[in-house]
Amino acid sequence: METKVNATTVSLVRGDITLEETDAIVNAANTTLSGGSGVDGAIHSSGGPAIMSECRKIGNCPTGHAVITTGGALRAKHVIHTVGPVYKDGKHGESSMLRSAYLSSLALALEKNLKSLAFPSISTGAYGYPVEEASRIAVSTVIGFIRENDGLDLVRFVLFSDRDLEIYSRALKGAL
Ligand code: ADP
Repeated sequence: METKVNATTVSLVRGDITLEETDAIVNAANTTLSGGSGVDGAIHSSGGPAIMSECRKIGNCPTGHAVITTGGALRAKHVIHTVGPVYKDGKHGESSMLRSAYLSSLALALEKNLKSLAFPSISTGAYGYPVEEASRIAVSTVIGFIRENDGLDLVRFVLFSDRDLEIYSRALKGAL
C-alpha cells in the first residue's frame, strides 16, 4: 500500500528491512545499543562490525530517543537506532514513549538531510507492544510529522509478516 502526504510517499511493504535501499533504516534497539534478537540482530549480522563499533562509541540511547551510525555493509547508508518501550500494561507511558521513538528517528533523519527512511514495527516483537495499538501510534505519528515537516521523499514501514502488513494497512487507512 502506498499513499502521498504532502510531498512524502508513505509506503507499507512486507519484507526484510536489512535489504532496504532507503538512505537509512531504523533499528529497534535496546538502551545499551548492545545488539540483541529480532530486527536488531538481523541488522548487525547483515551490516557487519562497523555498526557495533560506532554503537560502542555512542554508548547508550534512552528509551524514546534515537542515534545514528553508518549502515556498514547494508544497502542503506545509515542506521538510526531507536529504543521503543517494553510494554507492561499500557499505563506506564508506553504510548508516549513509542511515539517519541518514531518522532526522534524522523527528526534525526531530517537533521542529517536524509531523504528516505524505513521503519520496522518498533516494540511489537520481544518488547510485547500489542501490534494493533502500536500500528495506530506508528502511522499517526509518521503522518503527523510529515504534515508538519517537509524534506522527506519516502517513509516506508517494512513489516515482517502478512498479518502485521494487514494491521498496518488498516491503521494507515484509518489515519488518512
Ligand atoms: P522490539 O524489541 O522493539 O519488540 P523486535 O526486533 O523483537 O523488536 O521486533 C520488532 C518487529 O520487527 C517484530 O514485528 C519482528 O517480527 C520484526 N522483525 C524481525 N526481524 C526483522 C527484519 N529483518 N525486517 C523487518 N522486521 C523484522
